[in-house]
Amino acid sequence: MAGVDLGICNFAAVSFGGESVLYPGGALKEDEYYFTKKKAKCGDSSSREATRLDRKRTGRRTHFLHALSKAIVEECVERGVGTLVVGDLGGIRDDDETGASRNWGDHGNLDLHGWAFDRFTTLLDYKAEAEGIDVELVSERDTSKSCSCCGHTDDAQRVERGLYVCENCETVANADVNGAENIRQKVLPSLATDGGDRDNGWLAQPAVRLFDRSEGVFAPREQL
Ligand SMILES: [Zn+2]
Repeated sequence: MAGVDLGICNFAAVSFGGESVLYPGGALKEDEYYFTKKKAKCGDSSSREATRLDRKRTGRRTHFLHALSKAIVEECVERGVGTLVVGDLGGIRDDDETGASRNWGDHGNLDLHGWAFDRFTTLLDYKAEAEGIDVELVSERDTSKSCSCCGHTDDAQRVERGLYVCENCETVANADVNGAENIRQKVLPSLATDGGDRDNGWLAQPAVRLFDRSEGVFAPREQL
């Protein structure tokens, strides 16, 4: 079983339980910036050039999301994952209490991310199903505030430099990986909450896959 947390900086964080992978959304954001600037130069937003740019932008977004969902499903197949648990963002967009990492209004990315997350979830569902993997949507509520190791929830939890630090058990985790692991545990309660002495180093050391523009695929990168 694997958990997927969607976000702005890392478009997707995946926890396989004992192993984690990040998929940064930088390429998507760069495109957005590029096309927004180009379109602003067109002036008339109903011109043929503006329409052409819109179409091209949509194509680039769609390609990114296809490549990303494909990469995640491939990693699930490699690991024999039977169920993919995805954090459901429904409602989060109207929720003010979701923390700085989900500041939807920032940089005018609201539209992009609303659109991209919905589209991505649909693609992931489709591709996973084709491989016989079930996709379950669960609420994201509290998944960024709770420690995936001990279950401690801290409403005042601050994410600093992308890290989640638990004041109870002192676990240090990549914040997005912690979220993904919490999402995974919503369907499969982990042994970690038994207070065992499991090695949690993997929570702080995700592998990173970057989008390779020239190849149009996500390529592996060394660990951070
Ligand atoms: Zn903890």
